[in-house]
Amino acid sequence: MHLSVRPVRAFSDNYIWLIDSPRAPGQVVAVDPGDAAPVMAELQRSGLSLAAIFLTHHHADHIGGVSALLRRGAVPVIGPDDERIPGRTLTVRDGERCELADMGLSFEILQVPGHTLSHIAFWGHDALFCGDTLFSAGCGRMFEGTPTQMNASLTKLRNLPPHTRMYCGHEYTAANLRFALAVDPANGAALDYQRRVVSLRAQDQPTLPSTMELETRVNPFLRCDDPKVVAAAAAHAGTAPQGGAEVFGVLRAWKDQFR
Ligand SMILES: [Zn+2]
Repeated sequence: MHLSVRPVRAFSDNYIWLIDSPRAPGQVVAVDPGDAAPVMAELQRSGLSLAAIFLTHHHADHIGGVSALLRRGAVPVIGPDDERIPGRTLTVRDGERCELADMGLSFEILQVPGHTLSHIAFWGHDALFCGDTLFSAGCGRMFEGTPTQMNASLTKLRNLPPHTRMYCGHEYTAANLRFALAVDPANGAALDYQRRVVSLRAQDQPTLPSTMELETRVNPFLRCDDPKVVAAAAAHAGTAPQGGAEVFGVLRAWKDQFR
């Protein structure tokens, strides 16, 4: 049985995910509530009650709604060890488990530095909540980490089971696929996916969740050891990058400039 997860849109392209408790009907965990108002509207509309908050990293568009949500009632706030995240009731670290026994939920914490240094992901029930580390067909900007750190974080995620459903923090899939196809223009899986994504977005539907199986085929940032991606990075850089982290660094800098 897959987890039931509801998307709540916030700002221009954020998703706040609401995870339904498999054990306590009507109770949900909110992942990265950057804005309280759309979460409160969805709780009211669907008759849900907020039972916990998961935070992946400190950026305002992921934590900005926490204090307003807590004013409606105290719930556990679970996040990484980072003083820039106020209101945490439980700090979690790499390899630890986050257990919400009453809700029937249990997640492993994966430390995934790169977008920010303290960034974590929640993995469990065949689902991954990865904030701004991995996006569908792309990855987060490297604000605090190094290419070596971010490449190691993405490799950790790549090694999760292929059927893992990936819930990231933003709807960036269409733009990411344009870059993925600039890197690897003949990628059939990416071309098929682009057709599906264009159709979904034309109907104003989310492209998420993705799966790790799909991401390992279409996402250039997870394929830094693929000869086609390595060759594209070398052609772009005008010099042959040595190893996955250097390939990643070239791709990330290329994407930062890509329009
Ligand atoms: Zn962020």
